[in-house]
This record gives sequence, structure tokens and C-alpha cells, in this order.
Amino acid sequence: MKILVTNDDGITADGLWWLVRELTGIAEVVVVAPDREQSATGTSVTLWEPLRTRKAVPLVPGVETYAVEGTPSDSVLLALGSLIKGKIDLVVSGINWGMNLGDDIYISGTVSAALQGYLHGCPALAVSSERNSEPCFQTAARLATLMAERIAASPPPNNLFLNINVPNLPLTEIGRIQVTKLANESHLNTVTEGNDGKRNYYWLVRRRQGKGHDRNTDAWAVDHGNISVTPLFSSLPAKTLSLLLHNLCAGLLEKLTGSTV
Ligand code: MN
Repeated sequence: MKILVTNDDGITADGLWWLVRELTGIAEVVVVAPDREQSATGTSVTLWEPLRTRKAVPLVPGVETYAVEGTPSDSVLLALGSLIKGKIDLVVSGINWGMNLGDDIYISGTVSAALQGYLHGCPALAVSSERNSEPCFQTAARLATLMAERIAASPPPNNLFLNINVPNLPLTEIGRIQVTKLANESHLNTVTEGNDGKRNYYWLVRRRQGKGHDRNTDAWAVDHGNISVTPLFSSLPAKTLSLLLHNLCAGLLEKLTGSTV
């Protein structure tokens, strides 16, 4: 199995290398990621100027790694269109430092990178972990690896695109793995105004809006200590998708908590 790993936090981000470290245990991994912070750049692609890449030193030895002077979507487009020879079996984007819940998916570079994989026929996972002063990427990295193993063992009959959010909890405190839908009106954007002594400036501030009340949503799941798995786009009939996700997640938490630290 060959896995493309990318992100929107940039190629030096811890979350990306946690993922790579775990995934190299089960697959050949290639990293193609933005050379700098590209969070909240959404689905942006660079069409009006050339894109440059450079081979980068991997933080996990032996992993083919490219830094892209572009967006997360650019990175996946370059990876699939030119940089990587041979078939990619799975695209994993993350681990984002900060969850991508509800309407976040429309601005998230993490989710958008996975979307490009999906649009090119690869199963794709966007993986995000709760933002905390002490980031704990281990749970999300192991979960993504277990899922990748299952997807490789029984490839979905049609393409699959999942958005996964993991609360920042020790493994023993995770409640369950919950298949969810996106929360509505999950975020509030406000504008604050100031003056730097010469000119006015504006800050866009984005924050979660209240607690989720709908028990079926991603926001509710993570607020209640669960891992959220949200199917985004799929051409599968609803029943088939539901069964597929049930099988994908069944017993996964037990495997996760049973794994050696
Ligand atoms: Mn990010």
C-alpha cells in the first residue's frame, strides 16, 4: 500500500510526522505538503503563478518528502499529477492541530487536501486533533493507521471521504467512535477593529458557537469525549455507506486502547 500524507499546518508540523511515523509501520508513505502554515486556506488552488517544490529532509528517516510553495490542494494536485510515480492507495491529511467540525470543513485546508484525493479517485481521510496547549497526536495517528489498514484489507466498493476528529484525551478516557453528520452553525465569525498607530486594521476571529445539541453531529460527539467519523461526499447508497462505516469502526476503539504504548 502506498499512502500520500499531506496537511495544512506545514511540512514541519508535529501532527504530520506523528501520522507518518505510525503509517510507515503499515505502508510506503510519501509526504507532499505546504512549506509553511496554510491553515484555513480552504480549497484554494494556484492557477496564476508557477508552483515550486523542493525535496525536504524527512523527520522520519527514509520517507520521500516534498515541500510545496503552495496550498494544501496544490500539494495533492502536484503529488498525484507529477511528483509521485505509481498508484496512491490512500490520501491522509493531518493531523491538524485543532478540530475541523461542522462548517469548518468549508475553509479547512486539511479537509480540502483530502477532498482533492477523493476527487482523484483515492479514498481520503482528513484527521484533526483537539487543539490544546499540550498536543497529543498519538491517539489520532494510531486511529488513522488502524483505519488505513482496514481500508487496505477491504477496499470500499466506491470511493470514500471521511472527516475524523479526535478529542485530546488519554486513550482510556475516549468514550466511543461515533459516526456523525456535520453540525450546522457551529462557528461564529466576528471582526475586531484596531489601529496600529498608522492605519486601521481588522482581525477576523472565529470560534466555536456554543455546545452542539444534536447528538448525531460531529460537534456533539467530540464535546462528549467521542471520536467523530463523518462521511463527507460519497456516491454510495446511504444504507451501503452506513454498513461500510459500521464495519470500518467496529471494534476499532478496543484495538486502539489495547495497543501498546
Ligand atoms: Mn491547520
